Amino acid sequence: MTTSSPFTLRLFEPDIGSEECQAVLQVLESGMLSMGAMVETFEDAFANFLGVRHAIAVSSATAALHLAHHVMGIGVEDEVIVPSLTFVATASSVVYTGATPIFADIIGEQDLNIDPDDVAHRITSRTRGIVVVHYAGYPVDMDRIMHLAGQHGLYVVEDASHAPGSDYHGKPLGTIGHVGCFSFYTNKNMTTAEGGMVVTNDDNLAQRMRRMRSHGMTTVTWDRIRGHAYSYDVTDLGFNYRIDEMRAALGIVQLNRLPANNKRRRILMENYLTGLSQNGMIVVPFGLGVEDVSCHICPVLLTDGMMRESVMADLRNRGVQTSIHYPPVHLFSLYRERYGCRSGMLPITEDVTQRELTLPLYPSMCEADVEHVLDALEKSLTTVAAPKGI
Ligand SMILES: *Cc1c(COP(=O)(O)O)cnc(C)c1O
Repeated sequence: MTTSSPFTLRLFEPDIGSEECQAVLQVLESGMLSMGAMVETFEDAFANFLGVRHAIAVSSATAALHLAHHVMGIGVEDEVIVPSLTFVATASSVVYTGATPIFADIIGEQDLNIDPDDVAHRITSRTRGIVVVHYAGYPVDMDRIMHLAGQHGLYVVEDASHAPGSDYHGKPLGTIGHVGCFSFYTNKNMTTAEGGMVVTNDDNLAQRMRRMRSHGMTTVTWDRIRGHAYSYDVTDLGFNYRIDEMRAALGIVQLNRLPANNKRRRILMENYLTGLSQNGMIVVPFGLGVEDVSCHICPVLLTDGMMRESVMADLRNRGVQTSIHYPPVHLFSLYRERYGCRSGMLPITEDVTQRELTLPLYPSMCEADVEHVLDALEKSLTTVAAPKGI
């Protein structure tokens, strides 16, 4: 029997404590609200954390992705290969430049990341770049992607929105391609409510992205306050993609929390994986090794034909909120109408996106919460999968 639970275990909860409150309050009281010392400190700390030369804080990962493509100088003649199993911003940031996103399929139900073979297959004389998304924080096969990119003279952008703190062969994700982009949106592993970071080891790209973040101006307020500059020139048509001091202050505290929170996510994920491996009604992608993974989300795949909406509704009745990562980008109306995308183009992505279900995962969950979700999932699957009309 299904009973409505008085509480609902949410899909995610940000980990915000008194340190964050204190940090934001201090900024507000200081009167220096934008482009000051906090932004610089946050950037330095993030660059240091990743071991990368440049980190530029921006208003969102979408802004970070757009800056990355913009400084590569792509336009209407160009194509950039992207996954479809991602948040829409991975593709729309390419569209902003006038270039065409070319969608590539994923590897399979055991690995939801972009398939380097399918990427290779879609390279044309117009291809300029490749965007990879490290789904849930599991690394894309970067050796293959970087090799392909090198062979064809392409740039690589890592959308590392899921992956702060994930490693690939000992290298932090986001630092392997030419540019790495991070999101600090509310539901990410670390948050500034809204915010993002773009990172690179390329001095020239960093200088251009920094300038483009703030209207294409050659100096920023902070330089002028410190007496480093008295005026500025505008050299390019830039944007306002700045982050503010309150968010940067939040980011500094959240970055400090990230290693412990990621560790906590891994422990919970291991509990999930142990429990889920005993459930014959679902497939668990990516296998069991999570030691270098940020564990941004906990995805599972239902078996063919099982009604996902019914499972989600049943889980909700049992007090468990779930979601979907993601509806496939290439089948959104905009992409169908503007680029002629059709179902059948990416068979594996289309199959998986009908079956994927994301379970609650966040650091302040306890082991009993995981047990509750596992138990509810088992019951829901049995209820929903039961033959009807008997
Ligand atoms: C969250 C997310 C984004 C967008 O991040 P914003 O900071 O909200 O712009 C882009 N790509 C992926 C994979 C994401 O998960």
